[in-house]
Amino acid sequence: MTDSARTPTLTPDILIFGGGIAGLWLINRLRERGYQCLLLETGTLGGAQTLASQGIIHGGLKYALGGGLSSESEAIAGMPDRWRAAIDGRDKVDLSGLRVLADTQNLWSTGSVASRMTSFFASKMLRGRIEKLKRDQFPSALANPRFKGQVYRLDDLVVDTESLLRVLVAPVRDRLLRFDPGRDHLEWGDDGLRAARINGVRIEPRLTVLAAGEGNAALLADAQKSRLFPREAAQSRPLKMVLVKHRLGHRLYAHCVGASNKPRLTVTTHELPDGDLVWYLGGELAEKGVERSDEQQIAAARAELDALFPWLDFGDARFAILDVARAEPRQHGLAKPDNAYARRDRDLIITWPTKLTLAPDLGDRVDALVDEHGLTPGAPLGEVPEALPRAPVGQPQWYRSFGEHG
Ligand SMILES: Cc1cc2nc3c(=O)[nH]c(=O)nc-3n(C[C@H](O)[C@H](O)[C@H](O)COP(=O)(O)OP(=O)(O)OC[C@H]3O[C@@H](n4cnc5c(N)ncnc54)[C@H](O)[C@@H]3O)c2cc1C
Repeated sequence: MTDSARTPTLTPDILIFGGGIAGLWLINRLRERGYQCLLLETGTLGGAQTLASQGIIHGGLKYALGGGLSSESEAIAGMPDRWRAAIDGRDKVDLSGLRVLADTQNLWSTGSVASRMTSFFASKMLRGRIEKLKRDQFPSALANPRFKGQVYRLDDLVVDTESLLRVLVAPVRDRLLRFDPGRDHLEWGDDGLRAARINGVRIEPRLTVLAAGEGNAALLADAQKSRLFPREAAQSRPLKMVLVKHRLGHRLYAHCVGASNKPRLTVTTHELPDGDLVWYLGGELAEKGVERSDEQQIAAARAELDALFPWLDFGDARFAILDVARAEPRQHGLAKPDNAYARRDRDLIITWPTKLTLAPDLGDRVDALVDEHGLTPGAPLGEVPEALPRAPVGQPQWYRSFGEHG
């Protein structure tokens, strides 16, 4: 008797590796198109980059700070509207019920760079996408007479990543399976993944999608042993993020523009169940922070908050650090990729969204690759056997750093 004759076997159309935004977006989208899909997750759903992200759905303007719009800025300009359509139930992935933390985002300049900003934002290309605010429209954290800079409103939104996970997981809950590389086994063939053996159940997909973030590198290395994707490679760009739990009450969703062409500081605000707020700090602080120890990074964050908000007292605040890397396709000189990334080699697709924002773009690209492959929806899978353990859902970083009860 052959192995497959003895073993319960499922034959989905598509098997997806990774349950972050990429995998979850794709399984929802492909299911809508009638495909029978299963998803394998080694850790917790969302628990790597997705729940560590700041949840900013941006149109690329922050990349234009250098003075001109790059191709990246142009490519993602339509994304906030795509997300708004999905939240209204008008896109191919239904995000109705998603909690939006902020409908728009702010961008502020300190006094010294204000004049460069004024001429830049007045440029024709940016008209309609950015608006200069009057003092009485400033976010409360900047509404202080000692603040001397300028504040702008961007057409970006900020979403609650915990609610994003909930909305994407619910329709496909029984299709999201736990993959334990210590117990389970993958069998590669000349055209792609031949089978995954998960807790004694054999899964034989017709097409496989790698959407495992940092985990793509190891999966790709295995696939390359079967001479798939010979030229593909992954890259990681590390960050040292800072979380600040405080009782100051200000909700801020904003980039601070410094002297360079990158945001000096990016702040998003998240609420703990005890009502305390967490300011989640990214931007240059997090990029440069990878050279610092945790203690040095906390000291740098305190100094930055004191410099930018001298009227706020962070003396009682609690600080925490998150080391996390952004996983992407390899680019020349660690440059940022311009778009979502998806490529196909025979029965295998490899993807990196490269940004949360670009999930709809990733969906479009994978749709096109599935069409090009010629895959048509197969027979319904039916009940997924109990023997296949379901993947647990991850927690947002602010709960992990400060406990769910603050
Ligand atoms: C600190 C930080 C802040 C960010 N902020 C923003 C932002 O504000 N806006 C924005 O647009 N983008 C942001 N990004 C980028 C964005 O978060 C990522 O591009 C996006 O979440 C990547 O999603 P993903 O699904 O590819 O990866 P992940 O979310 O990392 O998911 C990959 C999943 O695959 C699983 N996995 C790993 N190996 C395997 C395997 N062998 N088999 C099965 N599963 C596996 C992992 O456990 C994980 O759950 C941020 C990134 C970081 C790190």
